Amino acid sequence: MDLLDLMIDFHKDALRQGPGSDQETKRALMFIDNLSDNSKIIDIGCGTGAQTMTLAENTSGKIVAIDMLPVFLEKLNEKILDKKLENRVTTECRSMLELPYPDNAFDLIWAEGSIYNIGFIKGLQDWKRILKAGGYIAVSEISWLTDTRPQEVEKYWTQNYAEIDTISNKIAVIEANGYTPVAHFVLPESCWIENYYQPILDRSEDFLKKYDYAEDLKQFIEAGRIEADIYKRFKEYYSYVFYIAKKKYDHNI
Ligand code: SAM
Repeated sequence: MDLLDLMIDFHKDALRQGPGSDQETKRALMFIDNLSDNSKIIDIGCGTGAQTMTLAENTSGKIVAIDMLPVFLEKLNEKILDKKLENRVTTECRSMLELPYPDNAFDLIWAEGSIYNIGFIKGLQDWKRILKAGGYIAVSEISWLTDTRPQEVEKYWTQNYAEIDTISNKIAVIEANGYTPVAHFVLPESCWIENYYQPILDRSEDFLKKYDYAEDLKQFIEAGRIEADIYKRFKEYYSYVFYIAKKKYDHNI
């Protein structure tokens, strides 16, 4: 097994592949009006679908959940069948870099902990085409919570995600790219620790044992441990922030 397969194997049994919670998904959903039985929703970078299931249980339209990893989608397909949601929720294995849907195809674009894979600005720009005017986009994105911060955390995150920025700059980017900002809120600590890092730390030792402490696997686990440690020490300086915005009616911007 190469490292990518090991990483997929490590994350596939987790409830979520990034910080979040059912409660925060529902909180973001509360800002979105006009959804009906006819609404079309796309969940981009769905992973094993924690938020897909919350969306399905709290909306009545059709949802297409996309991810580039078939192993994650198999897990989500099991959940969809288990809840008998197959008439409303489908999965498609594809890249978020190329979404072959017609213009204005969706009423709502959802991307929890995933827009960083295409980049915040590029995601907002590229995905706008498939969103109806007046439709909503809801994304969570790592953001600075303060104007200044210790050098250690600044260096760590700018090296790992160059687009990290303050909330006000993220909102300015949203507005400059053809959307009206509707709301934003900061994900609480429980989304990071209880729902994401602690389950990872709890699984690490057994997983290392399963693969005989392979060197590249040890490095991958250590990178996760460092990330969790940075979060614990510097959590007042950054978090995932949920941004909810509406596509403007004027396309010519
Ligand atoms: N939304 C899920 C959650 O919050 O649990 C998953 C978040 S995880 C941090 C990011 C997801 O994006 C992974 O499932 C990964 O496979 C997917 N992903 C990464 N790059 C992608 C791409 N280019 N196209 C589609 N999916 C991608």
